[in-house]
Amino acid sequence: MYSELRGKVVIITGSTSGIGRAIALAFAKKGCKIILNGLEKAEIVKKVMDEVNNVAHTGKDQNSLHPQILFHPANMKKPNEIEDLVNFAVKNFGKIDILINNAGIQHVSPIEDFPADKWQDIIDINLSASFHMIKFSLPFMMVNSWGRIINIVSAHGLVASPFKSAYVAAKHGLIGLTKTVALETAQKNITCNAICPGYVRTSLVEKQILDQAKAHNIPAEKVVDDIILAPQPIKKFVEMEDIAEAAIFLSLSSARSITGIALPIEGGWTAR
Ligand code: NAD
Repeated sequence: MYSELRGKVVIITGSTSGIGRAIALAFAKKGCKIILNGLEKAEIVKKVMDEVNNVAHTGKDQNSLHPQILFHPANMKKPNEIEDLVNFAVKNFGKIDILINNAGIQHVSPIEDFPADKWQDIIDINLSASFHMIKFSLPFMMVNSWGRIINIVSAHGLVASPFKSAYVAAKHGLIGLTKTVALETAQKNITCNAICPGYVRTSLVEKQILDQAKAHNIPAEKVVDDIILAPQPIKKFVEMEDIAEAAIFLSLSSARSITGIALPIEGGWTAR
C-alpha cells in the first residue's frame, strides 16, 4: 500500500526540527525524495539530513541507493526565497508531488503587550508562507494532474486560548486557506487538507513554557499540567510520529476523496 509513495517528491517546510523532522523521517522511510527546510544552524541541518538519509537508505521501503534528500534554507518570511525553494525542488527532482506546510513559530503574550513585529512574523511564517508555497507549487502539481497539500495547523486553528492572538488568528486563517485551495483543486486530482495537532513536546512548546508562566502568573513547573495539558482530555503530549503517520495517510491514493478537512489529533481537546 505504501509502495505508491516511492519516488514521490515531498517538500516539507520547517523540517529541521520537531514535527517537520518526524514527517521527513516518515516519508523518507517510504522511499520519497525530500526537500528539507528550516532555519537551524548548519550542524543541526547536517545532523537531520544524515538522520533522514539514514532511514531512506535502511528503511525497508527504500527507493534508491542514491541520496534523495536535499536541503534549501528559504526563510518563510520571504516570498522570493519561497519561490527559489520551489524551483530548487523542480530543478533537482523534476516535479513536486506533496507539499507539507509545517514551518511555524509561537509567541505568548496578552494582546495589549503583544509586540507588533511578533504579530507580523507569526502571520508571515504561519499563514502567508503557506499561501506562497501553494501558489508557486500548484502549477507543478497541475502539470502532472496529481498532488497532495497538507497544512500543519493546530488545535488553535479550531479553538482559541488566551495570550496567543497572532497564532490563533494565523492558524484559523490557514484552515480557511486549506478549504479554499481544496475547492479550487477539487477537479484536478489534488487534495488540500489540514492536520490540527494538540500539544507536541517540541522546541516550540519548550520555548513557550516561560512565556506561559509569565502570562498566567504561575510558576514555570506548573505550566505543563495547569495550562498546556489542561484543555486535552487525554493528559499526554501528542506524539510527533502520529502526526507524521496522518500525513502519510492523507498522501495515499485511498485518501483521494478527503479534501478540505481539518483533522484534529489533539487528545480530544476540540470535543468539548
Ligand atoms: P519546532 O520549533 O520544533 O520546529 C519549527 C520549524 O520551523 C523549525 O525547523 C524551524 O527552523 C522552522 N522555521 C521557523 N521559522 C522559520 C522561517 N522563518 N523560515 C523557515 N523555517 C522556519 O516546532 P514544531 O512544534 O515542530 O512546529 C511545527 C509546526 O507544528 C508549526 O506550524 C506549529 O505551529 C505546529 N504545531 C505545533 C504544536 C506543538 O505542540 N509543538 C501543536 C500544534 C501545531
